[in-house]
Amino acid sequence: FPVENIRNFSIIAHVDHGKSTLADRLLEMTGTITKTEHNKQVLDKLQVERERGITVKAQTASLFYSYEGINYLLNLIDTPGHVDFNYEVSRSLSACQGVILVVDANEGVQAQTVANFYLAFEAQLAIIPVINKIDLKNADPERVEKQIEKLFDLPEDDCIRISAKLGTNVERVLQHVIKKIPPPSAHTSNPLKALVFDSTFDHYRGVIASIALFGGQVQKGDKIVFAHTRKTYEVNEVGILTPDEQPTHKLYAGQVGYLIAGMKEVTEAQIGDTLYSHKEPVEPLPGFKLAKPMVFAGMYPIAQSEYNNLKSAVEKLTLNDSSVTVHRDSSVALGAGWRLGFLGLLHMEVFNQRLEQEYNASVILTAPTVPYKAVLSSAKLIKEYGKEEIIIINPAEFPDKNSVSEYLEPTILGTVITPDVYMGKIITLCQARRAVQKDIIYIDEQRVMLKYLFPLNEVVVDFYDTLKSLSSGYASFDYEDAGYQAADLVKMDFLLNGNTVEELATVVHKDKAYAVGKAVCERLKDAIPRQLFEIAIQAAIGNKIIARETLKAYRKDVLAKCYGGDISRKMKLLKRQAEGKKKMRKIGNVEVPKDAFITVLKRQ
Ligand code: GDP
Ligand code: MG
Repeated sequence: FPVENIRNFSIIAHVDHGKSTLADRLLEMTGTITKTEHNKQVLDKLQVERERGITVKAQTASLFYSYEGINYLLNLIDTPGHVDFNYEVSRSLSACQGVILVVDANEGVQAQTVANFYLAFEAQLAIIPVINKIDLKNADPERVEKQIEKLFDLPEDDCIRISAKLGTNVERVLQHVIKKIPPPSAHTSNPLKALVFDSTFDHYRGVIASIALFGGQVQKGDKIVFAHTRKTYEVNEVGILTPDEQPTHKLYAGQVGYLIAGMKEVTEAQIGDTLYSHKEPVEPLPGFKLAKPMVFAGMYPIAQSEYNNLKSAVEKLTLNDSSVTVHRDSSVALGAGWRLGFLGLLHMEVFNQRLEQEYNASVILTAPTVPYKAVLSSAKLIKEYGKEEIIIINPAEFPDKNSVSEYLEPTILGTVITPDVYMGKIITLCQARRAVQKDIIYIDEQRVMLKYLFPLNEVVVDFYDTLKSLSSGYASFDYEDAGYQAADLVKMDFLLNGNTVEELATVVHKDKAYAVGKAVCERLKDAIPRQLFEIAIQAAIGNKIIARETLKAYRKDVLAKCYGGDISRKMKLLKRQAEGKKKMRKIGNVEVPKDAFITVLKRQ
């Protein structure tokens, strides 16, 4: 294929605006798949993606289309549909020269539409605005076109009104792809230079890398090098995706396809990395980043006997997702487990759900935490860590205020788009989450866009759900990383009759300490059974007690029920009580059942 007849593009949209449906139509119209009910949303492969309507792993398809007597090769590069995967979205976009921006004719511009638009805009891509679902009764394409013009400066007249469901005007979308998106500027005569924009693991063939060639060519037998790992491999197979792998003799500059070369782990073909020929090293493409976990959670098997099953399930899942970080961890109460790092909250939920669906593993996932930083002032600690700034993901390692000049917390810039009737409630919610307003714009007569700088920690627990319920589901939310800011952080301990319960220690913002302390004390009070003596449940910062609950004494006399007499029944009851005690952990003289830890530590 001559390069001038190639178009590389993506479809970007807010969730549910019709990206997958449009992709299906494009595949059908170009004869890539046949029209049946079964292959609805062929590009969404994982069960969790179908259920949640989001694309987790990008899928790519090459389409052949003939227009005005010329044959075109159109490479549709699918992007993940959620903020947590923004890095992957931006990598996929750098394999493209243009995008189709899909907006629902009824819902209008939403938070993810804005975020996706800016990713495409910053990558200097051609943007084809498309208003979808015009067949809906409440569709108001005019209003949406005005929003698009106001926010993105794309002329109203450029919008194509379509129904992806019925196929209306979808042909025009393909024609615009050909006319408005430039072909890639890539030359086969240059040395091989290819971007890895996705990588998946296959049990039989190892890692399959999705690549876009910016120069040169590649075929079986070639020796290639990954710029980031500097490892060399011999190519076993190359081909195009339709969307199943279809081997070809070669891949040329400007093309998009897959490559198999004996990589055994997805970390060997990192998203964003550049590959080149062993013979002719080139400057790697800019923008490579290693996945950076922003949300951490402990993960434990419900029963320790399940540990090995869970371990192999986690290993299998991480084979396909190099962005999850895994560290072994253990808790006196919950036994052996892991501390996992995720890109964001949804990423964590998707991982957990895949674990359950695909591997049938039941797990306890602890409440998520974020990576705090401390700038050390104590010479002794600086020497110990070998650096001045440390990242704290485990409260046990939280350095004391006296040896620290500053604590820092991660922040995000959040975008909320909402009908203006909910604005008051949403502003109150944002303020309660310590957020600072950055911007407020009316995108039309009834809809506003709010921008807030949030501490990430305030968003990871139930912000999204609260926002949705406050706005009857109408507000949408998206965010981007906004670096670290100074924060007044404290370590909070919990005590039972004066003894510290290590696994409950937590780092909180000073302004939130009282509320968190009180809530945890209350939950502990409900979860710990009464014992023969009174129990003081306390939350403390250093030596200062900030919250307290008291659990009254109770005479737990199991024998009282069996009015004397039956000895064997008595023995049975005593035995049962002893077994119950085995599941207890002793803190000082207080017995705490494992369930109590789960209740307190678990994500609500
Ligand atoms: P995605 O999340 O952007 O991939 O959205 P989907 O393609 O999964 O579509 C979300 C929902 O909108 C599905 O129930 C689709 O059937 C529906 N949908 C998509 N396009 C249209 C359309 O043109 N008209 C109507 N009425 N529904 C559509
Ligand atoms: Mg989809």
